[in-house]
Amino acid sequence: MTIVFAASLALFVLLIIVCIVLGPQETEKSIKALFDFKTYKEDYKKIIPFLSKKESDTQLDKEKEASVLDVFDKRIIVDKSSTPALLVPSEGIAPRSAFLFTGPLDDGGHEGIDIWTNLNGAGMDGKTYGKGNPVYASCSGYVRKVWEDNGDVTVICDTLDEYYKEVVPSLKIKTLYGHMADQFSDEVYIYVHEGQRVNRGDLIGHQGNRCYWSPENRVVHLHFGVYDITNTKQVPLDPTPYIGVSCTTLNQEFKIENES
Ligand SMILES: [Zn+2]
Repeated sequence: MTIVFAASLALFVLLIIVCIVLGPQETEKSIKALFDFKTYKEDYKKIIPFLSKKESDTQLDKEKEASVLDVFDKRIIVDKSSTPALLVPSEGIAPRSAFLFTGPLDDGGHEGIDIWTNLNGAGMDGKTYGKGNPVYASCSGYVRKVWEDNGDVTVICDTLDEYYKEVVPSLKIKTLYGHMADQFSDEVYIYVHEGQRVNRGDLIGHQGNRCYWSPENRVVHLHFGVYDITNTKQVPLDPTPYIGVSCTTLNQEFKIENES
């Protein structure tokens, strides 16, 4: 009985403290959220959209996809005045907020931008289609690493021109291209090897569906990341100022501009 009393008292004191810190309204919301499992489940699904395999959910997801019209309406070109430091590596769309660039993985972020091959305003199911749009080297440099388990290619870029100093946070970067393999056929869509030199615009692979970290994620796409390699600890950077196309805007379209 004493234990029950002590536990109740502790809970009451904790509630008072939370109330003082958050304020009564926030406390009420938090308590409600605690018991509202359905809300949590839905939020979780939003973050990991391929979690559920049920036909009805897939249909629901498809309805939430951006329409092609939306994609064109919301397209943003950051810098039209000059050639961006890096080439857009692949064409497609970014219809999921969870897979835009949101910062370091350590902070719960997504360290790059996922570009989906566009099929009528939605992604392509890897099992049905396998291979997606071509992927090009966005900078000139050399291939540092090929990791087939995730269909990854890492390219260390040649130090970028001083001209870009005012526009980008670092001139010493590496670029990462992920998921260029097919989980179902085991085909690897990587056409370069470690140590190879590549030039900006060289074909290095195709979008695929192999994802080491999230085996449920089988939509055909490219994960593209830019990292500052000035120091030993590599820092993920928002690719936006590098490629001149927003990597933080939902429904953004990625197109490779003619460089001639
Ligand atoms: Zn990604």
